[in-house]
Amino acid sequence: MKSYSIGVIGIGKITQDQHLPVIAKDPRFRLAGLVSQRGLQQPDVPTFRTPAELYAALPDLDAVAICTPPSVRHAIAREALDAGKHVLLEKPPAPTMAEMNDLTSYAAARGKVIFATWHSQYNAAVDEAKKRLAGKKIRSLHIEWKEDVRRWHPGQEWIWDAGNFGVFDPGINALSIFTKIMPAPAFVKSADLVYPANRDTPIAASLVLTSLACENAASRLTAEFDWRQEGDQSWNINVATGDGVALRLTHGGSKLLVDGALTVEAPMAEYEGIYRHFAELLDAGRGAMDAAPFQLVADAFLVGRRTTTEAFVW
Ligand code: NAP
Repeated sequence: MKSYSIGVIGIGKITQDQHLPVIAKDPRFRLAGLVSQRGLQQPDVPTFRTPAELYAALPDLDAVAICTPPSVRHAIAREALDAGKHVLLEKPPAPTMAEMNDLTSYAAARGKVIFATWHSQYNAAVDEAKKRLAGKKIRSLHIEWKEDVRRWHPGQEWIWDAGNFGVFDPGINALSIFTKIMPAPAFVKSADLVYPANRDTPIAASLVLTSLACENAASRLTAEFDWRQEGDQSWNINVATGDGVALRLTHGGSKLLVDGALTVEAPMAEYEGIYRHFAELLDAGRGAMDAAPFQLVADAFLVGRRTTTEAFVW
């Protein structure tokens, strides 16, 4: 089995929580270098201030994982492809659909693998829900993704900058589960986007969706995203099928209840799944750029009505 040398660009929360520990225990990857503007270090691995320095120092490096805020990924990913590296992109892959599409074709033209990761898709309960919904009609579906921004993004000013998604940063995780489990394509019909008076990205959003899999015109598909939830956090998707089965995905997609009975509960191993799949893609020389979750968010911004709420302070 071939193993791949990999560099990680952007040593923030998700890199420290997931990428570094998961790479360390995956025999298919060897951490060869870090790129950190702040110069963060790891034992036995060189740190560089820029990707250019990484590529110059380690010309045989196979791949990079880009874990910066999304708004700056396009240029960093193109630079990596120019240097002949395969690329793994944290979610969301880019700030715009055009930039994502450009990366897909740029990587293909260079014969390099590019992989847009959607971590919430890597759950056994999500796979089981997808299997149970295959070929079914959907009577109703509701996404409830409500969390406390102060708890999960402490001090991350960039999430309020235009191009960095606001509440859709977690909301796109729910939509990545939704697009995976739906038996047919889905579309955004309307969206209400709630912006803090002093910020450029929404703190809450309500979506009405539809799908070719809807049972009939009365079928209701909705999503509620909110970053103001204190106490218990809600990462749930409820689905009712046309033949009367109730599916409930909870805990971010790690638990599945079918008609109220716990059917799948597995420990979270999302990033282990991401790197397993990246190794498969590298072995096969094949990219994976699933744009479906991103398209729904882009469309929510296109059709969304904007309202303003009180200013957000940390
Ligand atoms: P974060 O803690 O702010 O880390 C991002 C890091 O990127 C920064 O610490 C910085 O690291 C680097 N960076 C910042 N601005 C940059 C710029 N302009 N150019 C180049 N590098 C820059 O954010 P995060 O929570 O890790 O999130 C990063 C991405 O992971 C987001 O797209 C997010 O959606 C995704 N994600 C986050 C979580 C989570 O739990 N937080 C979970 C899943 C996915 P250096 O100073 O080391 O360069």
